[in-house]
Amino acid sequence: MQMQSQKSLFSWYNELMQLLFPQRNCLLCGEAIEDAGICDDCDHKRRLLLSCSVCATFVDQNEADKLCDNCLAHRRHFKMARAALPYRQLRQQILDFKYQQQTYYKRPFAALLEAAYRQHYQGIAFDAIVPLPITPLRLQERGFNQSELVTGVLARELAIKHQPQLLRRIKDTPPLHSVDCQQRRVLLKGAFLADKAVQSKTVLLVDDIFTTGATSDEASKQLLAAGAEAVYVLTICSSEQL
Ligand SMILES: [Zn+2]
Ligand SMILES: [Zn+2]
Repeated sequence: MQMQSQKSLFSWYNELMQLLFPQRNCLLCGEAIEDAGICDDCDHKRRLLLSCSVCATFVDQNEADKLCDNCLAHRRHFKMARAALPYRQLRQQILDFKYQQQTYYKRPFAALLEAAYRQHYQGIAFDAIVPLPITPLRLQERGFNQSELVTGVLARELAIKHQPQLLRRIKDTPPLHSVDCQQRRVLLKGAFLADKAVQSKTVLLVDDIFTTGATSDEASKQLLAAGAEAVYVLTICSSEQL
């Protein structure tokens, strides 16, 4: 209990510092910038990154506009998945955000998501932004879903309805980083429950990391089963197949 209140005090302090002295440095190179996120030079390089034709996995030039190994093995339920940056470029920031409760990252991360959204999804009429829900156990431990902090900012910036209530995580799963795509799919069965209010909606499903895509694909499957029109996935970062 003591630990918990110290943590939230720390988080609250960071929030206050962010309000008083907003972080205005590029997340990647540290250059001073006007808005939260990354500088123009880093964004220019970011825009040149190539992905699998369906999912958010970054690939090299020879593999661009083709299917990655995971997409070749399984047809995806989401229409498309895109990420802002490779995980290795943001590893520390993501870890600080997820496990050190450094919630002030929500603005720079939302800015990154917005840049990737404008690059890949501009012109699609989204009805709802839904953050990928965390497991009930983790929600109990942390008290909040950190993705939801980012999607709250993103939804305001893009003027799309923020609707976290459309998807719930009803089952805890063991940590998934050490298992392959096929095992993940098995472990994730029954993990999500979508609300029928998602009927006929085009959903932007947002998560922090896209690894094999098994988690966002299972969530997409449930949203579609509940009547969603289409699901697109957007993440802060993703893995690479190089
Ligand atoms: Zn930069
Ligand atoms: Zn793929």
